[in-house]
Amino acid sequence: MGSVRENLRRVREGIAEAALRSGRRPEEVKLIGATKGVPPERILEAVEAGLDTIGENYVQEAQRKYEVIGDRVKWHMIGRLQSNKAKHAVRLFEVIHSLSSLKLAQELQKRAQKEGRRIRVLVQVNLSGEETKAGVSPEGLPELIRAAVGMPNLEVLGLMTMPPYSEDPEDSRPFFRRLRELRDRLAEGGIILRELSMGMSNDYKVAVEEGATMVRIGTAIFGPRGR
Ligand SMILES: *Cc1c(COP(=O)(O)O)cnc(C)c1O
Repeated sequence: MGSVRENLRRVREGIAEAALRSGRRPEEVKLIGATKGVPPERILEAVEAGLDTIGENYVQEAQRKYEVIGDRVKWHMIGRLQSNKAKHAVRLFEVIHSLSSLKLAQELQKRAQKEGRRIRVLVQVNLSGEETKAGVSPEGLPELIRAAVGMPNLEVLGLMTMPPYSEDPEDSRPFFRRLRELRDRLAEGGIILRELSMGMSNDYKVAVEEGATMVRIGTAIFGPRGR
């Protein structure tokens, strides 16, 4: 692995090339540094090299890091969110990628209203049917989306997914395509969603080719997490 700066440069280049290959503009793709387990000092190296948004998986870990990093970056929640953490999540995060149930939507709505703000969300879809994966089923998606769209303090930006892990990035392609098709299907029903949060270190180029507007990348920027 090179330096964080060098890694970041290489990832940005990879995103740009994949975008151009598929007739898209590189600026259409937002890079989110996935920073679970990464110490704040290392995150700040990336910030100094131009990273402006990070994605955290755990509310408490993010709160600790916020003490050090503060508003130098935008904070996204990309991990599983429990309803009892919704209050803190609404305070800290600008976007939550992991809305996966009506109960959580209702809790976020309630907390956001109390805070007098609107919280942006993406609905996480479980396309593999793996029980260990979070997310609403494709069948349950329209109902959850309709409910969330009707909540005044939620702004539904789009969809998020995590394919099963595979060494071969091409294995992820059908899942990314499926997420895009689900978005397009919702658009036919009058629900227009811009964002597709999909693609990680091993498969982000494929995700960009399939229409990702947000990629969440950890290892390729910060190195292995040592677990
Ligand atoms: C860890 C994580 C990522 C990034 O994974 P890498 O393989 O390290 O790039 C992306 N999204 C979510 C939800 C994660 O938990």
